[in-house]
Parts: sequence; structure tokens; C-alpha cells
Amino acid sequence: MNLKYSSILLILHIVFVANFGFAQTNEIKIKFIGNCGLYISDGTTNVYTDFPYKSGAHNYMEFDSAELDSIKENSIFIFTHKHADHYSAKEIKKVIKEKNGRKYGSWNIEELKSLEESIPNFSIQAFKTSHKFSLNHYSYLITWHDKKIFLSGDTESAETISTIENMDWAFIPYWILIDAKENDIEIDTKMYGIYHLATVQIPSAKENWDDLENYQPLIKQGQIIKIAY
Ligand SMILES: [Zn+2]
Repeated sequence: MNLKYSSILLILHIVFVANFGFAQTNEIKIKFIGNCGLYISDGTTNVYTDFPYKSGAHNYMEFDSAELDSIKENSIFIFTHKHADHYSAKEIKKVIKEKNGRKYGSWNIEELKSLEESIPNFSIQAFKTSHKFSLNHYSYLITWHDKKIFLSGDTESAETISTIENMDWAFIPYWILIDAKENDIEIDTKMYGIYHLATVQIPSAKENWDDLENYQPLIKQGQIIKIAY
């Protein structure tokens, strides 16, 4: 076999292995950006929740401007409410102008249903939930490739989440855990992602949850959660 021929074979081999490998890894990847900001993707469709927000708003997490640059074209943006640590009118306007995509929230909550037609194996349920100083706050249950992902947002009460069965991942602020405990409310999830931690809470979050198998405190911006399906 001459060198040229064998190198072609090698390339074919690499391409085959790479593609085959990719087809085998069916997973939803969730990247923690900051606050309640998550980037969720199955490799085909790209969803952002509560991002872009205003970096550093209300003394919550800042993010690197590279996060804005790396937003994918034609993404779906879903917001729980419009407080500045969850939503930036200026940034989302800019992103959609530059990269297309659609944004959803209290202002067009009915339109969310249409995503079920455009995204394969995807459905979303919106729950009107209470939040101080916000008249329009929604929590969401995304079912994607049969995995149930709950996004609590800023709501103070565990009442809504307690009505949902068999979640795979529940993304909640720590105060939902406190509310559930105080009021004897059960949460039916395999995994907890504790988000919206302030910097000062990170040491105690590590202490409380880092060793618990089904709790993942979202401490490190950029950390990734994978859900195989
Ligand atoms: Zn808020």
C-alpha cells in the first residue's frame, strides 16, 4: 500500500469513527451561564433560558462578553420574567437582530406551543407562578427526548413544582428547597440543579450539596450537565 492510499484510508477511518461516535452519543447538554441562564442543546436545536440577562445586575453573577458572541444562530430564548438579572431587553434585541432566533416569555406565552411543531421530540408547558415585584412570572417544564427538565426561575413557592411527576432535572433556587422543607412539600425529581446562587452563597452551597449525589449546585460558570437519552 502506498503512503497516499493509506493516508486516505486513515482519513476515511477518522471520519467514520467521528460520525459514528457522534450518532451514538444521544444527549442533551446543559451549560450553566450564570444566574438562571442556561444553554440547552441536543446538538440540533439551541435553547437559552433567562439569557441574555444584564451582567452583574442586582449583585448577581457577571458573565464574559464572549458568552454573547458564542450564542448560536436561530436559537430559542425562553424567559421566566423580565427582571434585569434574568433578562436584558437591549442584549436580546441585539442578538436577534444579528443571529435571528425567537424569544418567548409572558408577552407571548401562547406562542410557546408552536415550538412543539418545529422542534422534534420537544414539548413545553408554562406555569404561571408567583414572584415578588413581578406580575408576570412563568416556570416551565420542558420535555425533550422524553427527558423532563423543570425551570423554576425566581418563584418563591414550591407548590407548582410539587405537582409535577417524575422529573429528570429540576433547576431551582435554594429557597425552593427551604420552602419545600418548611411546608412538607415533596419534589419528584431525579436530579436537582441549584441555580441563581449569589457569590457569597457559594461556600455554603459547596458545603451543603457538593457531596450529595442528586444535587448539583451551579457554582462554576461554564459547568456542563449531560443528560443521556
Ligand atoms: Zn426576579
